[in-house]
Amino acid sequence: MYHFVRDVEQTRYGGIKARRVAEFVGQVEHLCRHGQPVRAADLVAYFEGRGELPAGAFYLTFDDGFVDHLRTVVPVLKRFGLEGAFFPMTEPLVRGRVPSVEKLRFLNYNCDFPTIYEEFFATLGRLFPNVDASPWRFDPSRADLAAAYARFDQPAMGHFKRVTTLEMPWSIRDAVLDEMFPRYFGGEAEFIRELYLDWDNLRELRAAGMVVGGHTVTHPWLARLSAAEQDKEITEGNERLACELGEPIDVFAYPYGSYNADTLAILRRRGCRLAFTTKVEVVLDPARPLEVPRVDTNDVRYKSETCEA
Ligand SMILES: [Zn+2]
Repeated sequence: MYHFVRDVEQTRYGGIKARRVAEFVGQVEHLCRHGQPVRAADLVAYFEGRGELPAGAFYLTFDDGFVDHLRTVVPVLKRFGLEGAFFPMTEPLVRGRVPSVEKLRFLNYNCDFPTIYEEFFATLGRLFPNVDASPWRFDPSRADLAAAYARFDQPAMGHFKRVTTLEMPWSIRDAVLDEMFPRYFGGEAEFIRELYLDWDNLRELRAAGMVVGGHTVTHPWLARLSAAEQDKEITEGNERLACELGEPIDVFAYPYGSYNADTLAILRRRGCRLAFTTKVEVVLDPARPLEVPRVDTNDVRYKSETCEA
């Protein structure tokens, strides 16, 4: 599972976490040398009992619909003869709004985090003077929760990402972020143009033989939503993609890896054949096509000469 694949110092946002292009090529080389690339159709056939997967089967996925995916990832995949799957959320393109997950990502990583953290709570206090925000402040005694939520972050930031996603009402979070974001990053329309694949880009991905799958509209933590709300997020996202690409969408990736029994029922009802979690596993359960685990690129070494396995 990948997000950004770019040499960040060549962009306006040098602080964000990204897989460098050379590292990405190294990982792909390593996988091709030691594994067997498969396609989404092979995975579907496997789960439907119509085919086996080779030993060392691997498949690459890219979340959140960044321009990097067309500019830097697709040329590499084509060079190695690989198919990849790409999962854009539709809110930036349909509503012209930067999803809160992205606002948080850019504020957290591209700005001074302690400043952002204090400014977030100061803004919250100003916009919502009657809300007691103290339960959402960082408490070092709960650092284990933060670490479990965000494996690759420092505890204070992991905590902040966790409470803004799992504990705080999203209406409050969104209002605060909407106020803070333009101060650091300017207008959302230009930011969206610079950051995200547009519909033509997504059609280009398909024309290059890549798979495009659903990732909801706004990138919510699905398990926090009612079944009806989940259905709306999933179906609106998938239907818009289907309409733009001219084909049904039957592959999905859970934002944050979050899902519950309702999510699985909705995907089954909507004809989804393959869905990716963020559970870190390398063994597939043939009975669970809608719970395919994924390894994060941050878990993988990239220099093939230093890899032992
Ligand atoms: Zn995502």
